Amino acid sequence: MGVVIKQLGMLLIISGPSGTGKGTLVRKLMDSDPSFAFSCSVTTRAARPGEIDGVHYHFIDDAEYDRMLVEDAFLEHATVHGHRYGTPKKQVDTLLKSGKNVLLDIDPQGALSLMCRLKDYVSVFILPPSFSALRVRLHTRNTDDPVEIERRLRNARLEVLNIARYQYAVINDDLDLAFSQLQSIVNAEKQRTTRFIPTIMED
Ligand code: ADP
Repeated sequence: MGVVIKQLGMLLIISGPSGTGKGTLVRKLMDSDPSFAFSCSVTTRAARPGEIDGVHYHFIDDAEYDRMLVEDAFLEHATVHGHRYGTPKKQVDTLLKSGKNVLLDIDPQGALSLMCRLKDYVSVFILPPSFSALRVRLHTRNTDDPVEIERRLRNARLEVLNIARYQYAVINDDLDLAFSQLQSIVNAEKQRTTRFIPTIMED
């Protein structure tokens, strides 16, 4: 009789105000750590030029999205600018069971709602070094107009008040330092005994 140790993946929730650098840190982690698998979201918006179905998103119509809602098939879902987005539960479960880690880059509202429903996850809140630095970053990123930037900054002030709801926090001032802190969290979390499942194999 032998024992085989199977390892389960972690669901890593990365959240924080808009512009703090979640996307930047997530890309670095995905590029450097092959144990992370990309969970492909579904969306009802049209594919942009260059976007591939099943790679960037699964592009589905409203009817199919409604069907998935009724079937409670989403881990989380949100409507952004009139388009609907969701993370399919089944895909995430399959990846975690196969030992892959899954990363969700999600806004604080979505993260809090997800953390109320799930019990097994690792959550990291990304903080800006200051609100003035955050304002500069949002302007430099150049994806939002000044009114939208002020709205995001007002949200940011409220969002940081919930920091204690997360397990870890990282201040993204120096990017390399923030990234190495994120890697330390991930590397320690990978070694949790609860992720190691011994299975007795009959000879
Ligand atoms: P989020 O995904 O949290 O909205 P982004 O990853 O888009 O944030 O980052 C917002 C902007 O700040 C981007 O232009 C990015 O290049 C820049 N940025 C990210 N991290 C840092 C950092 N440590 N120092 C300076 N600028 C940064």
